[in-house]
Amino acid sequence: MSITNFTRKLLDIQDKNIHIDSEGITIEEYKGRTYKFIHATLTYEATHCPHCHIKKEGTSIYKNGTQTSRITIPTIGVHPVYLLLKKQRFMCKPCARSFTAKTSIVKRHCFISSNTKAQILVKTAEAQSIKSISRDCGVSDATVQRILNDGAKAFKPYHKTLPSHLSFDEFKYAKSQMAFEYINAETGAILDILDRRDSRTIKNHFITHYSLKNRKQVKTITIDMNAGYVTVIKELFPHAEIIIDRFHLVQLISRSMNKTRVTMMNRFKTSNGEDLKKYRRLKAYWKLLLKKENELSYTSYKYYRLFGQRIEASIVQEILAYDSRLRRNYQLYQSLLRAMNQKNYVALENILSQPCHQDISTYLRTSIQTLRKHLPYMKNSFYYTYNNGRMEGINNKIKVLNRVAYGYRNFTNYKNRILVHFQLKPVERTTNKRMKNKTRPKAA
Ligand SMILES: [Zn+2]
Repeated sequence: MSITNFTRKLLDIQDKNIHIDSEGITIEEYKGRTYKFIHATLTYEATHCPHCHIKKEGTSIYKNGTQTSRITIPTIGVHPVYLLLKKQRFMCKPCARSFTAKTSIVKRHCFISSNTKAQILVKTAEAQSIKSISRDCGVSDATVQRILNDGAKAFKPYHKTLPSHLSFDEFKYAKSQMAFEYINAETGAILDILDRRDSRTIKNHFITHYSLKNRKQVKTITIDMNAGYVTVIKELFPHAEIIIDRFHLVQLISRSMNKTRVTMMNRFKTSNGEDLKKYRRLKAYWKLLLKKENELSYTSYKYYRLFGQRIEASIVQEILAYDSRLRRNYQLYQSLLRAMNQKNYVALENILSQPCHQDISTYLRTSIQTLRKHLPYMKNSFYYTYNNGRMEGINNKIKVLNRVAYGYRNFTNYKNRILVHFQLKPVERTTNKRMKNKTRPKAA
């Protein structure tokens, strides 16, 4: 392999008309920074003139000097790399005009190689800050953002129509602001992000960008328990069923059950030795109380530090025996959990229609009130398989992105960053993962 071929391969330059000059690599200072310069020439025999389109015959088109461009190419090694490309100039006799040799490595009037642009876009798919991308690729911050904005243009959704199944959610950005996002509930594709989440903004957005006919075709919209969207959804999407994400329902009651346990546990924090033992057990085995009753083991013995050799189910029974109020709350919690897991709407409705016993904690009471308010939409969550799992996955990634993208004062730039980030990095299925990680409230 010749040196030119070898170097071309190393630099990912596919254009065979580019010839690397022998000993053509220099290290030089440029604008206060050290760069690696690769000196090369672009030349070939022109076949026709781009101005008059007349084919070359004899010497009708002749070579006439060169023009040098400084092109940013992907960095190899320590310093950012410039390709100093001497481009062949041609003269066309018939029309007396000149033109420059073309290459596939850069677009016309552009000094950043297509490879570098691709590299920048790939890097934005990782949670890297603009600063660090610009440093890695040897371009300015503004250039990175410009390439990112160009890349995001491909994802502009407005000319598209809405899918049948949507998912709405919100996320925090720029310290304390909330953005609204909606995605295709089936594919997980982000459709758009708005800088606010108030009803007026949402209404304006959907009315401006989608026809009523299209909005009428939306069949379901999955939301978490933010009641704020219910009214606006009914106005905008007259035929859509609202689905409350089931995961959030379970999370709501398991959180309130855990708070209830903490309240009752703290009553045993006395100087009495027997009470302290109960306190410690209530503190240590919180997970067992939150676990679905039918998933507790009734058969296998395990060693528990504060109990000794025991069966899971017997530990739960012993802990519940400490306090009849705890038992009552536990039973209510388990019955709600069971109804939700079995997707038994009648059972759920039945539990929620009964007045709360006086022993029920304020935490569980509040949750029950919330559940009552959302009861009609919970029915849908039992019926449809859509959930906010994909949305959760997206939001978790946005959180990571927020940590590196703190510099965004311009919402459009921020949004483009997110759009490019997700278009280049398909959303993984996170439904199962989040069940593992998130149903677990912090131990008190
Ligand atoms: Zn010509």
